[in-house]
Amino acid sequence: MSGAPVIDVRESPPEASARGALRWRDRLGPAELLFVGRGAPRRGEPLAPELLPAGVETAWLEQVHSARLLETGEAGAAGAGDGLLVGRPGLAAVVAVADCVPVLLAAAGRVAAVHAGWRGLAAGIVARAAERLAPDWAWIGPAIGPCCYEVGEEVAAAVVAASAPEVRRAGAAGRPHLDLAGAAARQLAAARGVGIREIRILRHCTRCREEWLESHRRDRERAGRNLAAIWLPPDAAHP
Ligand SMILES: [Zn+2]
Repeated sequence: MSGAPVIDVRESPPEASARGALRWRDRLGPAELLFVGRGAPRRGEPLAPELLPAGVETAWLEQVHSARLLETGEAGAAGAGDGLLVGRPGLAAVVAVADCVPVLLAAAGRVAAVHAGWRGLAAGIVARAAERLAPDWAWIGPAIGPCCYEVGEEVAAAVVAASAPEVRRAGAAGRPHLDLAGAAARQLAAARGVGIREIRILRHCTRCREEWLESHRRDRERAGRNLAAIWLPPDAAHP
């Protein structure tokens, strides 16, 4: 595979699950994915069974804003890190986010979920995950947008150094604003030896979209978490 990946930007609204949690569902190559906004289960808990197809279990991380990748084949807490690789059909990799960027990756036979805030992006976690998994497809979910993500000069410089100058915007107050999802897309497109065919972006700002999404910068300690999950269908091993 060669050439630049297709960038597919979407702004579709959520649908409500039976218990009122707002969700987006999609397919990514051989994988299925789910993003849950308002009404998601609390951080650290598995996804509510009614949000997942029958037979799908979940694995998740103790997220620490690192560039550490873990791999698991078992349901439950996988340990401390910010990227989780899974190669077992029927086991979903899940990350929790509330302004940070959720990145979901799919290759033939393996998937990964990444939690990328500015620290993780500056440390290159999205590029590392892509180089380890060699995905054909990538999905970038809702994060705080350049409209709302004002940062200091040092943070802006660190993320620009790990992505591209275009992710920095001039804010109204003279302080820099950052496009975190754009930085994640740059790292995916530039990952060494990786031929991603398509990068799909669900572009909604978590802070602006109060009716749909949790945002830490908006709600601080009261903020819940949005959840992003990706899995290979349970029957993928027996087509
Ligand atoms: Zn915004």
